[in-house]
Amino acid sequence: MSVPLVDLKANYRSIKNEIDAAIQAVIEEAAFIGLPANSYVRMFEEEFARFLGVRHCMACANGTDAIEILLRAYGIGPGDEVLVPANTWISTAEAVSANGALPVFVDSHPDYYTMDVERIAERASERTRAIIPVHLYGQTVDMDPLLALARERNWTVIEDCAQAHGALYRGRMAGTMGHAATFSFFPGKNLGAFGDAGGMATNDDTIAEKARMIANHGRLGKFDHGLEGRNSRMDGIQAAILSVKLKHLPAWTDLRRQKAALYDARLADVDLKLPARADYARHVFHLYVVQVAERDRVIASLQENGIATGVHYPVALPFLQAYRVRGFRPDEYPVSYAAMTGLLSLPIYPELDEAVIDRIARVMGRAIPVRS
Ligand SMILES: *Cc1c(COP(=O)(O)O)cnc(C)c1O
Repeated sequence: MSVPLVDLKANYRSIKNEIDAAIQAVIEEAAFIGLPANSYVRMFEEEFARFLGVRHCMACANGTDAIEILLRAYGIGPGDEVLVPANTWISTAEAVSANGALPVFVDSHPDYYTMDVERIAERASERTRAIIPVHLYGQTVDMDPLLALARERNWTVIEDCAQAHGALYRGRMAGTMGHAATFSFFPGKNLGAFGDAGGMATNDDTIAEKARMIANHGRLGKFDHGLEGRNSRMDGIQAAILSVKLKHLPAWTDLRRQKAALYDARLADVDLKLPARADYARHVFHLYVVQVAERDRVIASLQENGIATGVHYPVALPFLQAYRVRGFRPDEYPVSYAAMTGLLSLPIYPELDEAVIDRIARVMGRAIPVRS
């Protein structure tokens, strides 16, 4: 039996009746396009805002647009620099460049792989206007020192929560600590739609209104446009699906955390680095990332046994071809660079069977030489 990295089919089967009914309702009402008055989109926005504990959630087409739109809403553009982690999905940096600003990379924490808050100040300049902490793999960045620095330097803080729906930092919900936050509802995320979808969150009324306008052609009213925006709307069908799934998210998060604890126990004697938990964070395990030597061999053994794995990320952003022109050197991002060769994501999802975790651990135990 093959084991995927994330089992979206099992997830659908577990709530099939609810999902099918929700989709059917949208189709019968032909409530396809979101803004400005689609009740399914509005309802999801309200539910997600309540879940987070913020004043506004603004739905949009995907998590990348969410970052791009918020940066624009804050007026960030040419001549500005934005601090982003070296180890993240490219969207975080792409969205900065799309606004004509410069993404400036910050190296990773050696244990958590998130942005290392100790390394932020050395990357800042007079042109720094914003910082985008990414709560990577489901674990929050160490926000208190980051927020203190941002307050002192007057930077805008946009939390990228694409991998961290429901994660906590010292009891505070990810996405409620900065000026604004972005979410992806890509199918494989902890809260995923049946296609692309995204969202933004903030307590700032002015930013909320501006971001909404940008996401919907600068719309003020019918055929009345206050600015040139774009089309970045969430579909009614996606919103209805997300409303159904949001109700299950807390239970799914608990299950992910249980699976992670099982992995920890089963892999305790295998010579690898387990995912470290920061004492300030409640990790929601979007990914379960270990670090191994001889990664290719481990991947091959798992693959022979029908077990899928992932690498997040095989190349840290400064070393991608996309940023080659900037000439970054490995010694500028030593932690991110070193992690590139060892990171390995194992299957994790709420429906993952305990017996499968046992099997994965056994294969890993055989593939990795015993600790000497
Ligand atoms: C998935 C992801 C995004 C982008 O989301 P899309 O919905 O795929 O555009 C942004 N940042 C991070 C860290 C992500 O993991």
